[in-house]
Amino acid sequence: MKPVRDTTSVLLGAEPALRRMLNYWIATALLYLAAIVLMACQVAAGHTPREPALLLGATAAAGTLVSYALIRFSTALDLAPDVLAMLQSVFAIGCCMAGYAISGPVRAALLCMTVVIIAFCAVALRPRQTMFLSAVTLGGMGSVMWWLQAGDPLRHPPAVEAMNFGYLAAALLSTALLSSEMTKLRRRMKRKKQELEKALETIRTLATIDELTALANRRHMNELLCAEERRQPPGAGSCVALLDIDFFKQVNDLHGHALGDAVLREFANAARGALRAHDTLARWGGEEFLLLLPDAAPHDARQVLERMADHVHALRVEGLDPARRISFSAGLAARRTGEPFTEAISRADKALYRAKASGRDRIEVA
Ligand code: GH3
Ligand code: MG
Ligand code: MG
Repeated sequence: MKPVRDTTSVLLGAEPALRRMLNYWIATALLYLAAIVLMACQVAAGHTPREPALLLGATAAAGTLVSYALIRFSTALDLAPDVLAMLQSVFAIGCCMAGYAISGPVRAALLCMTVVIIAFCAVALRPRQTMFLSAVTLGGMGSVMWWLQAGDPLRHPPAVEAMNFGYLAAALLSTALLSSEMTKLRRRMKRKKQELEKALETIRTLATIDELTALANRRHMNELLCAEERRQPPGAGSCVALLDIDFFKQVNDLHGHALGDAVLREFANAARGALRAHDTLARWGGEEFLLLLPDAAPHDARQVLERMADHVHALRVEGLDPARRISFSAGLAARRTGEPFTEAISRADKALYRAKASGRDRIEVA
């Protein structure tokens, strides 16, 4: 299977947008093939002269190969998808015009091909380009019809050519209008998709981030703890610490809830700056925080907490008495092998209680 896959990736490339364009190209190549076979049948039935049919078939085949090369190397050639579509469609319309001119009594059947071409290209073209292409097609086909009836009115009666032209105009106009509606619909769907993706991103953020402090929220921390339990890290293991701001109620009571909120935000910013790359600090509730330190020995975890304490002590919050130093107490627990995090957290909670009881602004190890 690998050689087939390798050949496919050489022929169609690896990039999804390029593959999509080349898949369209395969569809057009099949259409050309069908037209060449039908042209051969016309020759066999005596409706179409052999030489011009051969020339047209060879031109169509060569054009198909050239359009493959243009699409395959469009990035290197700096060809935008709409330019490629325009080139391909102008070539295809040219083939249709030549086919119409040499198809004798079955020429009207070729008109349906022009409609297919416009519909095909409308996928890649802007509505205005589709309209332009339809006008060019109508003008080109009209000229061929005029030329045919003027040159050989017996085989191409003017009335028949005029009717063919009328049908073609009606079909092209409706196809162009329909394509333009489809394009607008596609654009609306694309915009809706982008809006949905943005909304989903916001929901994801809201589900994991605490709104006030922008730290991880309790729900997200619980997910991380579950993931960490499953990971069963080799070596150092992990530590958890419960942190609680000291005398925080006084801030609220003296300066109001809004300043209390500002202190929580500043605390979170300062504490975040002390973390190692894989540590996570979450708002566990109120003014209490849970710190998860994966792959950390108690000594490493203590260092992180001490660094955090230095950052927090240095905090100056506007509106707060400058003499008031913000501090926190912490209970630290190293997770034992196979121990659920709930138990490690419960031990950290007890250590936190001891830290509070023995004077606050300190770290107690469980
Ligand atoms: P201790 O040193 O013993 O921890 O004393 P404390 O005053 O910090 O402890 P306590 O648990 O009594 O007070 C916590 C206060 O935190 C009570 C509550 O009003 C306040 N709080 C909880 N959540 C928020 C919040 O989101 N914003 C504000 N401004 N205050 C909050
Ligand atoms: Mg407190
Ligand atoms: Mg508290």
